[in-house]
Amino acid sequence: MNFHIISIFPETLKPYLNSSILKKAQEKKKIKIFFHNPIDFLEKSKSGLSKRVDDKPYGGGPGMVLKAEPFLKSIKKAIGRKKDFQIIYFSPSAKKWTNKEAIKISKNFKNKKIKNLILVCGRYEGLDSRVSKIYSGKFYSVGDYVLTGGEIPALILVDSISRQIEGVLGNEDSVEEKRISSSKFFTRPEEILWNKKKYKIPAVLKSGDHKKIENWKEKNS
Ligand code: SAH
Repeated sequence: MNFHIISIFPETLKPYLNSSILKKAQEKKKIKIFFHNPIDFLEKSKSGLSKRVDDKPYGGGPGMVLKAEPFLKSIKKAIGRKKDFQIIYFSPSAKKWTNKEAIKISKNFKNKKIKNLILVCGRYEGLDSRVSKIYSGKFYSVGDYVLTGGEIPALILVDSISRQIEGVLGNEDSVEEKRISSSKFFTRPEEILWNKKKYKIPAVLKSGDHKKIENWKEKNS
C-alpha cells in the first residue's frame, strides 16, 4: 500500500511513521509513504518571496483558508498516471472513521482495487472546498473533537490500515478481529511487589487449560 500524505507540516508525521511497527512495515516494503508539501508548489512573487499557502475566507470569519491551487497541484502530482487510488479528506463533521473502514480499504488493497491512498491534511479553518469538488474523495472524521490539523487523522488512518495488511504485524493472529481479545494483559514477572503489596497475575492464565483461558478472555474483553 502506498500512502501519499499531502501536508504543509510533514515534519509532524515523520517521527511516528518512522518508529516501531510502521517503520518495520516500510523496511519490509509492505507500505510506502510519500510526502507532498503544497508549499513546494507555491509560485514566487516578483520580489522572490513565496506566495502564501493560506488566505482570508470569502464571506468573512476568523481563521485562514488553505488555497486550492497548491493542494490541487500536490494531489495531481500524487496521482500521476495511477488509476488505483482513493483520495481521503478530513473534517471533524464527516463520517466517523472506524476499524470497519480500515478493513474495507485493506481488502480493496488485497483485491488490487486500491494501491494508493492520498490523504489530504487540512489546517487552520480548512481547505478551499473547490479542491474536493475537482478531485472527489471520501471525507472522514476521527472523532468528535476539533484538532488543529489533519496530520493526526492521517496518522490514525495509516496506522489502522497498515496493521490490517498481511505481514505488517509479526503474527497474523495479532489482528484483534480474528480472535478473542481480552482488554486485560499480563506479562512477566508473575508477581509484582509495589508499596509493600503483592500483585499476582490471574492464576487461570498459567493453568495451561486453553478452554478456561478462552473463557476468561471472553469475560474480560
Ligand atoms: N473549521 C473547521 C475545523 C478546521 S480544523 C470545522 O469547524 O469544521 C482544521 C483541519 O483539521 C480540518 O480541515 C481537518 O483536516 C482537520 N481536523 C480537525 N479535527 C478533525 C477531526 N476530528 N477529524 C478529522 N479531521 C480533523
